Amino acid sequence: MLQIQENVSLKHFNTFGIDANARYFAEISREHELEELFADPQWLQTERLILGGGSNMLLVNNFDGLVIRLNIRGIQHRISHNDVFVEAGAGEVWNDLVNFCVDRNYGGMENLSLIPGSVGASPIQNIGAYGVELKDVFESCRAFEIATGTFRTFTKADCNFGYRESVFKTDLAGQYIIVSVKFHLSLIPNFNLKYGAIEQELANRNITQPTIEDISKVVSHIRVSKLPDPSTIGNAGSFFKNPVISMVEFEPLKQNFPEVVSYPAGEGLVKLAAGWLIEQCGWKGKIVGNTGTYQNQALVLVNHGGATGQEVYNLSSQIIDSVYTKFGVTLQREVNIIK
Ligand SMILES: Cc1cc2nc3c(=O)[nH]c(=O)nc-3n(C[C@H](O)[C@H](O)[C@H](O)COP(=O)(O)OP(=O)(O)OC[C@H]3O[C@@H](n4cnc5c(N)ncnc54)[C@H](O)[C@@H]3O)c2cc1C
Repeated sequence: MLQIQENVSLKHFNTFGIDANARYFAEISREHELEELFADPQWLQTERLILGGGSNMLLVNNFDGLVIRLNIRGIQHRISHNDVFVEAGAGEVWNDLVNFCVDRNYGGMENLSLIPGSVGASPIQNIGAYGVELKDVFESCRAFEIATGTFRTFTKADCNFGYRESVFKTDLAGQYIIVSVKFHLSLIPNFNLKYGAIEQELANRNITQPTIEDISKVVSHIRVSKLPDPSTIGNAGSFFKNPVISMVEFEPLKQNFPEVVSYPAGEGLVKLAAGWLIEQCGWKGKIVGNTGTYQNQALVLVNHGGATGQEVYNLSSQIIDSVYTKFGVTLQREVNIIK
């Protein structure tokens, strides 16, 4: 029987370590529990928050509704010639799934090693790192439609993936709960080494013919050296997206700031390094009350201990204002703001 708890602290359910409470809290371990939950009309009318690992959200206030924590487990895998299909429950830890695949030499996910969070959240913002995005290995996902109480399968085309975007954040926001995700991997590795840091680290290790495991280890090593560990210092990774602007907007910016860090982002588009923009405004390593930006990467906002969600949110607004004032570029938050 599904248990609904009341007034549950979410402090240990979000990587920022924000001490906010949920009015109601339900943990879902099996798909049918979602049908059971929403058979009661009370929960259809209550505000809801779907929770995975809480590594991409900022709880600004107590949540006066129902938090639904996905804990559906299980990994199945099937090999067909050189193709591998792996299906995992939404509540599996993302990096456990990556390790499961790396250990079996299933190629495709190695660059996504050590990203925090759950499998179920991975399609929401099309997680990405080191030149690979979830969409590159995504086959389909199964999701529960809250309004109708039915399950539906989404193909890659249905998901409308973009840079840190999917249909689950836009047109269908709040309507579906992902219960499992299916991935298409390969027994023939096709490495993506275009990020200089990976090549450099392989060279440091004298590895000329890397294996899937080598790439996973190197990516994990680079991540640990660059990003703060949420178990030591609360954070949710990159707080802002890297802004993508048109060439027309970029030209005057480049003239005023010749050293601006940028990358091509498709026809007539340029991606700017948000971390660089923030750093140029003097925010890197700055401490503001109980919050601040990480000393090695200004893109990461941190909880130095006891910060409220409102404090972190206010800091993010100040950063947006100062980047706009200096560069005329509007930063968008990547982290989901829960008010
Ligand atoms: C140190 C650090 C480094 C990071 N590095 C990266 C990185 O390199 N690349 C990257 O892309 N991200 C990165 N992130 C962000 C984060 O790890 C990912 O966004 C991850 O997918 C979030 O998973 P989660 O389970 O914690 O999601 P949550 O934070 O629990 O939820 C995120 C959003 O998804 C929704 N959601 C969660 N589960 C489901 C579900 N089953 N069905 C429907 N909606 C759901 C939530 O309601 C919320 O809106 C990093 C975070 C940290 C702390």
